[in-house]
Amino acid sequence: MTGKQKKKGQLIVLSGPSGTGKSTVIAELMAQRELFFSVSYTTRGPRVGEQDGVNYNFVTRQEFERMIAADELLEYAEYVDNYYGTSLKVINEKLDAGIDVLLDIEVKGAAKVRQRCPDAIFIFMIPPSFEELSRRLHGRNTDNEAVITGRLEKARSEYKEIPNYDYLVVNDKVSHAVGEIEAILTAAECRVENRKYIVEGDNAL
Ligand code: ADP
Ligand code: 5GP
Repeated sequence: MTGKQKKKGQLIVLSGPSGTGKSTVIAELMAQRELFFSVSYTTRGPRVGEQDGVNYNFVTRQEFERMIAADELLEYAEYVDNYYGTSLKVINEKLDAGIDVLLDIEVKGAAKVRQRCPDAIFIFMIPPSFEELSRRLHGRNTDNEAVITGRLEKARSEYKEIPNYDYLVVNDKVSHAVGEIEAILTAAECRVENRKYIVEGDNAL
């Protein structure tokens, strides 16, 4: 590795209530920026249009519990009756290769990542209003009324965790939310501690 290459990738954690538009914003962000999206493991069933290995790795409860016991997960949490978790091995491989990694995870998992990886950037995304969140959950047409009610209730408790995050982004327009996240990531890249490789070592300016 030369002195001009950045050493480790940046870990980025994005949380926000289900239906806020995280997946939509992430897809747009990844079209504009080199990022590795961590495909989580979950025991929830695939929604229409979701693909195994792309949106999630869909596994049984038994397999998920085996992964917990084998310590294969950076973090995991139970969210509205299902397990969700992040593979430790994949994340470490990418970060060690200097690639930025984005996690879309809920608040309890994010708190565990904060303990294990204090240098990560923590971003919370909200919709413009609860009425709009309800509209988006209904409009997505993937969950029944009971599940939607559960997710809306969950959203209220998730908002209480916002003070534990570094940045708050309102997803009113997708392009606006993507622009704000781009700005956050660019600012982080410019931090002196992340740019030492430019001025230190054999190839120093
Ligand atoms: P999440 O990943 O946070 O659960 P999704 O990305 O699945 O949310 O988005 C939920 C629904 O809201 C989808 O139907 C999506 O097309 C829509 N959506 C996302 N962002 C916006 C936005 N800024 N304005 C209007 N609708 C949006
Ligand atoms: P959904 O079922 O809507 O795809 O996701 C439900 C919630 O689980 C979302 O808040 C999402 O951010 C979260 N989630 C997805 N993957 C993970 C994961 O690996 N770990 C944790 N803790 N939460 C996750």
